[in-house]
Amino acid sequence: MKYIGAHVSAEGGVQNAPLNADAIGAKAFALFTKNQRQWFSSPLSKTSITTFRENCEMLSYKPFQILPHDSYLINLGHPEKEPLEKSRASFLDEMKRCELLGLDRLNFHPGSHLNQISVEECLTRIAESVNIALEKTKGVSAVIENTAGQGTNLGHTFEQIRFIIDRVEDKLRIGVCIDTCHAYTSGYDVKTEIGFRETFEKFEQIIGFQYLKGMHLNDTKKDFGTRVDRHENIGTGFLGLDTFSYVVNDSRFDNMPLILETPEDSLWEAEIKKLYSLIKS
Ligand SMILES: [Zn+2]
Ligand SMILES: [Zn+2]
Repeated sequence: MKYIGAHVSAEGGVQNAPLNADAIGAKAFALFTKNQRQWFSSPLSKTSITTFRENCEMLSYKPFQILPHDSYLINLGHPEKEPLEKSRASFLDEMKRCELLGLDRLNFHPGSHLNQISVEECLTRIAESVNIALEKTKGVSAVIENTAGQGTNLGHTFEQIRFIIDRVEDKLRIGVCIDTCHAYTSGYDVKTEIGFRETFEKFEQIIGFQYLKGMHLNDTKKDFGTRVDRHENIGTGFLGLDTFSYVVNDSRFDNMPLILETPEDSLWEAEIKKLYSLIKS
């Protein structure tokens, strides 16, 4: 079964996210559990937590259909002590928010070395950061997102993601989310049928599908290998519709949130319908 949705707004409180998802016919959704442009926000209120849980129950959204996303400020591989500690504290707070909401995974961008430490040192720090957060929480997995490799962002190769996973102690609470836009611009040809097949053969060999906890379905404004992260609406970017047709017709992507992060939110409802229509019976 495919669970397709979008990263919906949680304006006015997290409890509104499931309502916003349902309003566009989403069978999955992503959300920020706090203001994504701030390091810390006020704690979730009891009412917010209860209403979020009730709304999810009422609209039949289970934790495996929900993929919260962490703040863009967090850099779990930061080369400097103080910002690293701030990032770790903020990430732990986000993991705890997920725990309170009864959610089972938190999607994050691995981190950036900022040309101050080596790639391996940065990846090792990221793994340590994840270990710290996992030790202090229960039931929530940290889900590494592949990146476009823009600037000094890491996580743009399957090998780098594997390097992190290898150093995470609790292998049952580490996962991966693959973003189609990031994959293509970082140099994985998910556009052609043969390229898509080879990409996910590599994924299986290097990482393993048991770690796949969600997908971001985005087309791209930038071409193959550019390492630039600019999402485009489905079918109108460099990828076109084929990539998405491969995903929705492949059982390896069953039973996980498949999330649109495309720029034009007024198109999400139509994009979700379109994606479902690509499924061949
Ligand atoms: Zn993404
Ligand atoms: Zn992106």
